Amino acid sequence: MKREKGLLIVLSGPSGVGKGTVCGALREQDTDIKYSVSATTRSPREGEVDGVNYFFKSKEEFERMIREGEMLEHAKYVNNYYGTPRTYVEEMINKGHDVILEIEVQGALQVKESFPEGVFIFLMPPSLHELRNRIEGRGTETGDLIDSRMTVAKEEIDLMDNYDYVVENDKVELAVERIKSIVTAENCKKDRLIHQYKQLAEE
Ligand code: 5GP
Repeated sequence: MKREKGLLIVLSGPSGVGKGTVCGALREQDTDIKYSVSATTRSPREGEVDGVNYFFKSKEEFERMIREGEMLEHAKYVNNYYGTPRTYVEEMINKGHDVILEIEVQGALQVKESFPEGVFIFLMPPSLHELRNRIEGRGTETGDLIDSRMTVAKEEIDLMDNYDYVVENDKVELAVERIKSIVTAENCKKDRLIHQYKQLAEE
């Protein structure tokens, strides 16, 4: 049966934990999950493409989008704005597609206010030492920025209590399997289906 509404899946976790890699692998395996492209005021990293990795915006344009209610959520993260454009997410969910947002914790908390029925998953590194190694290994941030990201990471881990699931990203394939299992189980939750099946029974 075609679902009335898709799931809104929110994947958070400290910078460098591998959210992008895990989401990328998930998208390759599960082609029905739609991926929301965020907007940001940070500069593109080498290889990042506008409209694919992010919509890169000026501060003025981003603030206009906030003012005009075009953002489902937004947050300031290490001196830049990041936000989820609302239209794409709402359209996909209303068409019955599952949508995944890869966002930091402040934004996730805002989404929880407007979409309490969302599925909130926190991706954890095996250790903070490993997290620093991954950020350093990525080579896209320098000294001070790495320290800022590590400080934010600790604050984010403190807010894990707001999530429904914790997935360790020890190995990408394992993390992807765990997330797929969560999505499958959530799609079978009685509360999400009962309305549709009751209608079917009445027909
Ligand atoms: P990065 O600069 O490494 O691409 O992203 C920095 C942080 O911002 C990451 O934790 C990432 O998940 C988060 N982020 C990316 N897009 C969004 C968004 O649309 N909203 C919020 N709140 N955070 C985002």
